[in-house]
Amino acid sequence: MLSVLRKIVQEVSAAPDLESVLDLIVRRIQRTMKTQVCSIFLFDPVQQRYVLRATQGLNQDAVGKVSLSMTEGIVGQVGQRAEPINLEDAARHPAFHYLQATGEERYHAFLGVPIIHHRTVLGVLVVQQVEHRRFDESEEAFMVTLSAQLAGIIAHAEATGSVNMDTAEAVAGQADASESVPAVHDKRFNGVAAAPGVAIGTVVIATLTAELETVPDKPGRGVERERADFHAALEAVRDDLTTLGKSLAQRLKAEEQALFDVYLRMLDDSALRGEIERRIEQGQWAQGALRDVILAQVQQFSRMEDAYLRERATDVRDLGRRILGYLQESAGPVQMECPDNAILIADELSPAMLGMVPEEKLAGLVAVSGSGNSHAAIMARSIGIPTVMGVVDLPFTRLDGRKVIVDGYSGRIYVNPSERLLEAFERVIRDEQAVAAGLEELRDLPAETTDGYRMPLWVNTGLVADVTRSLERGAEGIGLYRTEIPFMIRDFFPSEQEQLQSYRSQLEAFAPRPVTMRTLDIGGDKALPYFPINEDNPFLGWRGIRVTLDHPEIFLVQVRAMLRASEGLDNLRIMLPMVTSIHEVEEALRQIDRAVAELQDEGYDIKRPPVGVMVEVPAAVYQVRRFARLVDFISVGSNDLTQYILAVDRNNPRVAGLYAAYHPAVLRALQYIARETRREGKPVSICGEMAADPGGALLLMAMGYEVLSMNANNLPRVKSAIRGVSLVRAQSLLSRVLRMGDAEEIHQYLRDALKGLGLGQLTRPRLPNQL
Ligand code: PEP
Ligand code: MG
Repeated sequence: MLSVLRKIVQEVSAAPDLESVLDLIVRRIQRTMKTQVCSIFLFDPVQQRYVLRATQGLNQDAVGKVSLSMTEGIVGQVGQRAEPINLEDAARHPAFHYLQATGEERYHAFLGVPIIHHRTVLGVLVVQQVEHRRFDESEEAFMVTLSAQLAGIIAHAEATGSVNMDTAEAVAGQADASESVPAVHDKRFNGVAAAPGVAIGTVVIATLTAELETVPDKPGRGVERERADFHAALEAVRDDLTTLGKSLAQRLKAEEQALFDVYLRMLDDSALRGEIERRIEQGQWAQGALRDVILAQVQQFSRMEDAYLRERATDVRDLGRRILGYLQESAGPVQMECPDNAILIADELSPAMLGMVPEEKLAGLVAVSGSGNSHAAIMARSIGIPTVMGVVDLPFTRLDGRKVIVDGYSGRIYVNPSERLLEAFERVIRDEQAVAAGLEELRDLPAETTDGYRMPLWVNTGLVADVTRSLERGAEGIGLYRTEIPFMIRDFFPSEQEQLQSYRSQLEAFAPRPVTMRTLDIGGDKALPYFPINEDNPFLGWRGIRVTLDHPEIFLVQVRAMLRASEGLDNLRIMLPMVTSIHEVEEALRQIDRAVAELQDEGYDIKRPPVGVMVEVPAAVYQVRRFARLVDFISVGSNDLTQYILAVDRNNPRVAGLYAAYHPAVLRALQYIARETRREGKPVSICGEMAADPGGALLLMAMGYEVLSMNANNLPRVKSAIRGVSLVRAQSLLSRVLRMGDAEEIHQYLRDALKGLGLGQLTRPRLPNQL
């Protein structure tokens, strides 16, 4: 059964559109379960009814015509209860509703299973048989399992279908296509809010080089030109393969060499070429045509029973990538085609991708994977670009050149927006600009409460642009310089000299204000292209200090570069990430002392800078006093601390709703850390995203955090919140909040409290999202 299940799921996921997806499902289930009938009813939110969308066994004429309300029939009952109903004779059930046009009167046995995606019932899957009998347990289990796996595919196909309607026009230049099919406006896709703000603009797809899955649909630049490019790419790959085959001839065994012949034969396969050319003639560009044909072949091969033939899938994909590489080369870099107000959409966002669009043209970011506390999201917040991530159902390759609205407050995007929606969101943008202009006036004013308590506000940096922005916003120091970011946008580890230069520029720009440099924090969701770490559980794996202590050569070079960069400036602080145990701190301190001694021997005029530990894992919370005794300061990384206390992957959109910064357990831990560190007489600061939220900043101030470090973009909002409240009031807010048991209740209470203080403009604006 398992292999049948896998096969059906694979086959269905390769189907090109919703109709074929549904059709395949009913055919395959009917055959596998040997039933007379298999049908799918999908819920139509406009009509609020379950509509028969595909069937094997019932009258085909009824498809699309027959429907049931949410309370009608057994189908309605399955939807309402969100659980299967298995009946020996459907007609005897009190809820039975006879659907005349279907010809179902002959069937007695009935099993209906809900199709549920993200807690929403999408529809009902039904099998029926003539005989009077209950479907047995294994049949029911099979249907439930299959339905759970198919739900995501159906949701995705529904979403793709809804934006396809007028893509036909965009892709093939067929004006009539759009006349016959009405365009769908305001198609909404839900994701995770990753960076606040609203952006309206034109989609640009971030294509990963030679990644077939990320190639967008685009109209060709003329059939002749696309065909010529395709042929040139084929020839180039043929030359490569021939040369490669020859140069390896001595070293390869005969069967390995035969692989080159297989590749060359595939290139000559006229069916493959013909199919790609046919799509080019229909108006696709060569890359899109190649993507469709190669991926379809890959799917076909990977479904084969025979292991040898299944392996061919890898060969076809490899060949496809090689051809794509040449096509991408001839198409030129993405940046050249970038429109104003570009909305960059990627499967997965990476820092390097941000460079694909010139900064002045980048208006919004959208990613299919990832979540609101991933590092890509943190970078987006730092540059102030509205961002939505984890839009898992977004058919992103079909959106190139389309107009969209990115709502970075509620984590939604709207494709093909109507005039009405555009106007409503343009109003939000104007209001936001007015608030931002008001905040600019605070630049040179201190972050001081109404009762005279002075709260130092520092910034988190990583990108080059952060420095200027931070100084413009009136930052008083750097609480976290994420050194891994300059490491990530390179092809190999930077040398001591190169690191020295980039550290020096941070230290100089901020001197005499303090600059806290964190030692390399890679692993988790931060990969270096030249130092791959493949693990099943990367956030519980080789991360941060665990990596650098295992590689003292990397650690020492980095610390030496930091120390040398600080010579004569004296504003460096060093901070250690992901610390779990005392021995890690002791070992790191030994290494730092060694670097200091070496450099002093070499004649540098430096001394050991203040060193601090980041509290990011629960183990560190409970040992914070011991750490505080060993080092000069404690800084809380609340992003990781939240993920580890709540056991919620900060990068996973499926559990994004559970990542609650205001979870009572997180607040208790934060309060405990502040109290314990202060008992040891050491300074305690925070550099996680919680400090960047006006409500969160007030709570942290009340807990006794002595420095709040945040992305530069949010600094003016936090300053405004602090200037609008007294410390006493913030403390009473904190004690109220600590008595509450639910994160959402706390969040709401803080929003209301800010409004009550006349700081409503610092919370999220009213959004036109109830459409
Ligand atoms: C944190 O974990 O809160 C933190 C500041 O570090 P990063 O977000 O870079 O992991
Ligand atoms: Mg961290």
